[in-house]
Order: sequence, then C-alpha cells, then structure tokens
Amino acid sequence: MTLITVAITVETPAEVLEALRTATQQVQAGARIVEWRVDALAEDAGALDAITRLVRESPAPCIVTIRSASEGGGYRGDDTDRVSLIEAIGTADPGPRYIDFELLHLSRSANIRQKVLLAVDHARQVRDLKTSLILSTHDFKGRPNDLARRAAAMWQDPACAIAKLAWRARSVRDCIEAFELLLQAPKPTVALCMGPFGLASRVLAAKFGAFLTYARADGDPGTAPGQPTVRQLRQDFRFDAISKNTRVFGVIGWPIEHSLSPLLHNTGFSAVGFDGCYLPLPIPTEWEHFKATMHALIDFKPLDLGGLSVTLPHKENLLRYVRESGGVIDAISERCGAANTLLVEANGRLRAINTDAPAAVAALAVGMQMRAQASAALAAGGTPNSIDGGLAARVGWSAMRVAVLGAGGAARAIVAGLSLAGAQVFIFNRTHERAEAIERDLHRQPLPGGGESHVVAGRLGEIASGHFHAFVNATSVGMEGGADISGNPLPNDIQLHPQVVVMETVYTPRITPMLRMATERGARVIDGAQMFVKQAEMQFQLFTGTEAPAGLFQQLVQQALAI
Ligand code: NAP
Repeated sequence: MTLITVAITVETPAEVLEALRTATQQVQAGARIVEWRVDALAEDAGALDAITRLVRESPAPCIVTIRSASEGGGYRGDDTDRVSLIEAIGTADPGPRYIDFELLHLSRSANIRQKVLLAVDHARQVRDLKTSLILSTHDFKGRPNDLARRAAAMWQDPACAIAKLAWRARSVRDCIEAFELLLQAPKPTVALCMGPFGLASRVLAAKFGAFLTYARADGDPGTAPGQPTVRQLRQDFRFDAISKNTRVFGVIGWPIEHSLSPLLHNTGFSAVGFDGCYLPLPIPTEWEHFKATMHALIDFKPLDLGGLSVTLPHKENLLRYVRESGGVIDAISERCGAANTLLVEANGRLRAINTDAPAAVAALAVGMQMRAQASAALAAGGTPNSIDGGLAARVGWSAMRVAVLGAGGAARAIVAGLSLAGAQVFIFNRTHERAEAIERDLHRQPLPGGGESHVVAGRLGEIASGHFHAFVNATSVGMEGGADISGNPLPNDIQLHPQVVVMETVYTPRITPMLRMATERGARVIDGAQMFVKQAEMQFQLFTGTEAPAGLFQQLVQQALAI
C-alpha cells in the first residue's frame, strides 16, 4: 500500500507547535507518514531540540529531511554541520522512522557516508528501533540524463532502504517513465514527477506500488511544485481505492488545471462503485506534443487507459489521431470535424466520439419542453417567435429556427448536432467567413436519411429581425478569462419574450450578461452548465457502461460554481 506522506516545512523553533498541530490534522485527514522538512531550522542554534521534539511528538511515523540547496532545498549551511546534526537526530531517543539523504552527497565522501549510516544503524542496533535510510535524488529543472544510472546506484546500495527519484516533468510522458521505474524496482521506491505535468505520477503512485507519495496540508504551498493536498488525493482522486487493476481516464487540454471533469467523474466512479481514476492531463497546443503523449499513454499497457475527455485545443487533433491510428470515428464527430471523447476498447481499438453535439441538442430540447409545461396556456401560432416552446417536442426540430452565435469548435458541434436533428440553423459570427465555412462543410455532408442540412451563415446585423425560436451563444463572449467578460453577443434591439429560449454555453460565470438580459426580458434561459453536465454524463456512460447517477453531476457543478 502506498503511504500518503504529508510534507511539513518548519523553519524556526517557534513554529514547532503549529507544525505539530498541522501534522495531527493531516494525519486525521488520512496522511500515514509525516515528513518534517527542517532545512532552514537545521541552521538554528536550537535545531536539535526542536527537531527531536518534532520526532517525539509526531502523530505518525516520520521522515526527517534537511534538504541541501543544491538539491532544491533550503539548507545553505556547511555540509559537515548538516551531517553531524543528522547523526545527532538519528542517535537521539526516540529517533525518526526514516532519514532522507541525497545520493549525490552520500557518495561524496566516506566520512559523510559513515556518519549518515551511523544515524540509521544506531537506532536499529542499539535501540532495536527501525530507522531506515531514504536515499534520494532530485532535479528541479528536468529529467536528469543519468536517471537510470541513479536508480541503479540506489537499488544496489545496501544502505538504501527506500530509493526516491524526483524530477521536474517536461511533459505527461515523464510520468510514464516514473511508472516504468516503479515496475522494475527491486526494492521499495518512490518515483515522482514535479510540476504541472507530474500530477499523474503522484496519484497513480498507488497503482504502480510506490512506497509513498507526498502531499501538502491545505493552504500550504508544499515542498515541491505540483503536490496535491492530502484531501485532494483522497477525495478528488480516490487515492484509497486505487490498486494495480484500476482503469485510468483523464481530460486532455491546455490549460486544464481548472477543469471540473476530474471532480465529476471520480465522484461518479465512487458513487457507482467503478474501479477507475480520472486525472487532468495537460498537453501543450502543438500536434506533435499531442501525438507523442497519446502514443505514450495508449502504448504503455500497464496504465490501463480506458478513455479520455478531450477539450480545447485538441478536439480536432483527436479526430486526426484516431483516423491516423485506424480507429473508428462516430458520425457526429465526422460531421463536426472534431471529437471530445476517446474510448480505448478492450481489444485496443480506438473510438472517437462527440458528446458535445448531442448534449447541446438535449439541453436545448429539455429547455423547450420544460417551457411548454411551465406555460401550457401560451397559445401557439403567429410569428415563429410566439410559437409555444413545446413545439420542438411535438412537431420535431424541423419547425425550429435556431440562431447559433459563434463559429468556433463549440459552435461547429452545436450546428452539426442541431442540423442532424433537423432544425433550421442560422450561424452568426464576428468573422463571417468562418460561419460560411461551417455552412459549406455541412452542406457537403448529406443527412443520414437523405436530404440536405438547413444551415445558413447569416450577417450579424440580421439577428434581431430573424424570428428565431432559440438563440445559442457559442462564442467566448461573457466567459471568465475570455475576450470580453462583460460582453453580450446578442444585440440590444433583440426581441425577447417568454416564447423564446436563450441558451448559453459559457458556464463561468453561471449567469452571463446575455442570460441576465434574456431573463430581464422574460425569455426562458438555459445556462451553460446544462450542456456541460450532459456531455459529461454521456462520457461517463461510455467510460463505465453505467449511467451517471441522476442529478449528481448537476449538483457537483452547482457546488463548484457556488451557485
Ligand atoms: P473557439 O473555437 O476559440 O471559438 C471562439 C468563438 O468566439 C469564435 O466564434 C470567435 O469569433 C468568438 N469570439 C471570440 N471573441 C469574440 C468577441 N470579442 N466578439 C465576438 N465574438 C468573439 O472556442 P470554442 O471551443 O468554440 O468555445 C466557445 C465557447 O463555448 C467558450 O465559452 C466555451 O467555454 C464554450 N463551451 C462550452 C461547452 C459546454 O459544455 N458548456 C463545451 C464547449 C465549449 P471569431 O471566429 O470571429 O474569432
């Protein structure tokens, strides 16, 4: 079992009490080992007393680490003093369960080696206690060229009880190398990748049998870049449920750290008892990055990659990748020219699927039907804008005129989905040529039952006079971090009233300027979370073969967006 180790930095004797309190909280939260990072404290005159108190009162077995600045730590003093302090800590009573020391420094001189080993052996031989040496190596800049040689040196050293290799991942692919090291390790080993690409190595340490994984306390910056908190490991990533049989899923995008998908899918896995773990997997924009990482994830069979959600900017890349790999592409992905879901089937075959398009259609359909129930008294007929909203459900999509604002990836999926459903779709975009390109592309593809899609690229100035049953914003206008958070893609002179549906795809913030205006003018609104939740529920079913628990994803999104 891989032990969650909370790393706590203590810089002065005055911080000891608070550090012990934090450690107790983190052990209650599920940490099994406490690492006392006493790099700066080690240079204080009262270091030995303070550190022995930390060891004595530690709420769980502990590691004492005085990391030198040359290996990314905060100890800048003389190395002889550091080693003497380690010797004193190790021979004190009680001594720590583990002492961490760097491979590079241990092999530097026979004297250093002798003293460090004395600290470990004293406890073991004199007091019959088990103090073990964690021999470690770090590279905060990247993967060391001699990584394999360092691993071999630690594995062959009889003094090394636990080998620890940590380096800054240059891409998610480095995590795969960490897993390979763990699989071939002849003794307890820790192989971790630091930085934003390294999270998978920290979470899936449990799948590949690492001795421990490091975590930080809530609100603490951590002792290395990319450390999750103890709570995140256990609650968000299902750390306790991970075993070597766990299937791996994830979301690929750039940037991806704020994605809600890991929360939804991991909570869903727990709710239905599915043995899976879902991770954010950042891949930079370029096709070559995408291709190389996909190869690495798919070809490394011990990973058990079951599927991926794919978001900006890789939806087109996914289609290309699956096509070039001889996989299967579903009709709607072909139609959109993009896919947001990859399935890796048991026989290794890849399937590209688009859940954005059906999710958008379903969200819009629900909105229209709900409106019918809520306003059954409203008379149908007259101009299209006054048609009862239940019409889509009763007479089908062919009677519905839908204006889609935007011509990017999301708009393309929504237009493809709606036109496949049979709606009359009108695209309005700042760059008119992009709207025309969608019209052209979809006209080239006949509908499955024969006939042509009804897709028209309109001019922005024509939105207000177009008589639409529904408006869908698929631009990034109104989005947090987007081009114009206070913007509204609908013109001010638009006629909105209770018979018109206004749907948003932007879900941060939940209420955009467009939705606010639509609500004020009495239109029925569908927020961007509806489409997001539906596409995630569809993916969940594809990944697990089980329906997402009713209402769970909606509830999680509402909580996460603090609605
Ligand atoms: P994209 O490919 O980058 O397209 C962006 C679109 O927004 C383009 O049509 C662009 O027009 C337009 N735009 C950007 N800034 C504008 C401005 N200042 N004024 C007018 N138009 C502007 O992005 P995407 O992937 O399609 O995503 C678009 C939106 O959909 C995002 O807000 C995203 O969060 C949302 N989305 C939601 C879901 C969901 O599940 N709810 C799923 C996917 C996407 P030009 O062509 O003129 O540049």
